Amino acid sequence: MVGAGFAGLAAARELVRRGRDVVVLEGRDRVGGRSATATIAGVRVDLGATFVGPTQDAVIALAAELGCPTVPTYSHGKNLIRWRGKVRTYRSTIPKLSILELLDVSRIQWRFERVCRRVPVEDPWSAPIADALDAVSLEQWLRSVRAGAATRELMAIMSRVTWGCEPDAVSMLHAVRYVKAAGGLARMLDVKGGAQQDRFPGGTQQIALRIAEELGERVLLGAVVDTVERRDDGRLVVGFGTGRVEVDAVIVAVAPQHRQAITFRPELDSQYRELTRHWPLGRLSKAYAAYDKPFWRTAGYSGEALSDEGPVFITFDVSPSDDGPGILLGFTDARTFDRLPPQQRRARALDGFATLFGAAALEPIDYLDHCWGTEGFAPGGPTAAVPPRSWTRYGPWLRRPVNGIHWAGTETADVWTGFLDGAVRSGLRAAAEVDRELSARSSSGGPG
Ligand SMILES: Cc1cc2nc3c(=O)[nH]c(=O)nc-3n(C[C@H](O)[C@H](O)[C@H](O)COP(=O)(O)OP(=O)(O)OC[C@H]3O[C@@H](n4cnc5c(N)ncnc54)[C@H](O)[C@@H]3O)c2cc1C
Repeated sequence: MVGAGFAGLAAARELVRRGRDVVVLEGRDRVGGRSATATIAGVRVDLGATFVGPTQDAVIALAAELGCPTVPTYSHGKNLIRWRGKVRTYRSTIPKLSILELLDVSRIQWRFERVCRRVPVEDPWSAPIADALDAVSLEQWLRSVRAGAATRELMAIMSRVTWGCEPDAVSMLHAVRYVKAAGGLARMLDVKGGAQQDRFPGGTQQIALRIAEELGERVLLGAVVDTVERRDDGRLVVGFGTGRVEVDAVIVAVAPQHRQAITFRPELDSQYRELTRHWPLGRLSKAYAAYDKPFWRTAGYSGEALSDEGPVFITFDVSPSDDGPGILLGFTDARTFDRLPPQQRRARALDGFATLFGAAALEPIDYLDHCWGTEGFAPGGPTAAVPPRSWTRYGPWLRRPVNGIHWAGTETADVWTGFLDGAVRSGLRAAAEVDRELSARSSSGGPG
């Protein structure tokens, strides 16, 4: 197994359950991948993945098995939006706009969901409209259906938080396939009934840590895999620095972009190689500020906010209780945030919180941020921002096994692609594939 994110760990756990020997090679000095839990004012918070919601059954079942409970995301009271220089309140997912703007948002949502129905999640390249959709970016599509400025700005906020990119960087085919895999726009964007409904008070990384504990010595940290070589007898030799391990099959459970760092011998077909160059990860950053109390709650605010001006563009309340500490989570726009020195990042993030929640937000008791795009190893996230003409050219090779090599990772999932749930599902799928392949080989007398 290459990679100890949720996909790699779920796959390893499943293979062990099926009686297979497994070794998990992880390049970082920790498990969890894009899930990493840190502490602010003594409270655990997630630098990467945080939320889960209904229909994310694979990750919810896994967490429950491992004894990791969830709590509902705090959502009582009024939401806030900073829009064209003014801060206003609203209550549902769609903020208060003018009647004409609201009608335009509904029209575009309706058209988007209608396109979703025409794209199969498993093989989107096979749809009759695939070429047309993959030839344009989300931004080009929005302009082609004459989406108004407010709708385009809301879709840009969605694009930043979903793929970590602007709408002109992501293929329309990818956008509709992704949203469909999540069960629709409302399911993906909502708190109640949607992907942000619940969170883990102990953080998401504890799930990975518990699997790693179960797997024990089978997990090797600091093992950066650089080669996978197939020998004449069909066995595979996986190289990591000066280390080597000989195996019957490999699951590469890293983001498609990071497959580039591994040399495969014999060389894989060009589509496999090109795919890694056309499946780039986006960039998303997070800032947390802690206060004695969640002071916005007493003023009737939910802590949920949207802003059309960065760097903080979406916020949530992740405080443990009314008694404090009060903790605001802000998603920050990597384009303007990541290049700033730490003190300026802090000042800009606190300014963003203060514009929404008042001057009290300028006086935190603790502060924390994290820029996924500038990580030293395997950088990027939340997920792949797949550009135009990638799915139709390379999609069929995304998870097609080759030479005993199998592919996992949230980007390869058909349900909740890009989320923790997709990662777990992809791991279970790849484990079943390998188990089947090894059983078939051993019954035919080959290695297995
Ligand atoms: C800021 C942010 C917020 C997010 N919020 C949410 C959320 O609220 N809910 C949700 O469901 N999802 C969220 N996500 C997405 C979620 O984190 C990912 O979908 C999921 O963690 C991906 O898991 P994975 O196992 O597929 O990949 P990864 O977690 O990326 O795991 C791959 C692992 O492979 C390792 N690796 C890479 N190359 C090599 C190599 N050559 N050798 C050895 N090891 C290697 C990496 O270090 C990594 O540990 C968020 C992500 C980010 C960054």
